[in-house]
Amino acid sequence: MGFRSIVSAVLIFATAFVVWNYLRPEQILPACVEPITYNIGTFDRKFGISYRTFLSALVEAEAIWEKPIGKELFVYEPESGELAVNLIYDYRQETTGTLSGLENIVAKDELAYQAMRAKYINLKTEYGGAKSVYDTRIEVFDERNAAYQKQVESWNRGKRTSREQFNQLEVERVELEKEMAELKIFETQLNEMVREINKLVESLNRLIKSLNLNVEAYNTIGVLRGETFVGGIYHSAEGVREINVYEFGNRDKLVRVLAHEFGHALGLEHVDARNAMMYKLNEGNARVLSESDLAALKALCEIE
Ligand SMILES: [Zn+2]
Repeated sequence: MGFRSIVSAVLIFATAFVVWNYLRPEQILPACVEPITYNIGTFDRKFGISYRTFLSALVEAEAIWEKPIGKELFVYEPESGELAVNLIYDYRQETTGTLSGLENIVAKDELAYQAMRAKYINLKTEYGGAKSVYDTRIEVFDERNAAYQKQVESWNRGKRTSREQFNQLEVERVELEKEMAELKIFETQLNEMVREINKLVESLNRLIKSLNLNVEAYNTIGVLRGETFVGGIYHSAEGVREINVYEFGNRDKLVRVLAHEFGHALGLEHVDARNAMMYKLNEGNARVLSESDLAALKALCEIE
């Protein structure tokens, strides 16, 4: 590749950069050609399910995509699978446990309400801190990106000074790309937090009513900017691909979380039908593909 064509490649990238919003999933190789191998990475026993149950849920999630088109899309490879599926226990599952416990058993206990309220306040504070870090990084990123593009433009207008300057531009491009990938993951985490907070708020409001407490009802902290399916995240960066599962109410919901994240691993994006496996929220109960999921899969695999 000549010097000039590298420069035009840089320019093309810079243009694409502006159009691309931070949340676009990365391009990956089609699984329809070569199945994705996966294994189980982190497996936290605090969820209270066995390894075997988890594996059976994975196999079922796999079949949801494979059966309708009669094609092997995922293969479980305990040692060498390239996609790690992690079961990670953190505040999310803890909250799910707390909430169902509260609502079913100790709903009349005002102490429980106080505990939940404290949790809400903590989480909200944690979110506030994380969000301001995120906002600052976005601001810095936008400025850097604008400066970078100006330099690329001037380079392409022919005001080339030295190869050194070109190399500097290249280093900056790589760094910007890396920062963008990190910000994407960061944003996903923030969205998960917002969802969790809103869920707490909902339950707090319900408890307030049922306990007839004389407290102000809570307002949700804002509109969900969510792109994530409740309970799981798929991400792929620098050759590492993983699915992290944080939360599920029961085995059926777990299968749905896994199937949804498998869909992202295939390269599918969200579809706009509420009953779909690839809908942005885990609302339905079906463990089969909807018409829109199937259409998206067929388009991806170029099946008539
Ligand atoms: Zn999703």
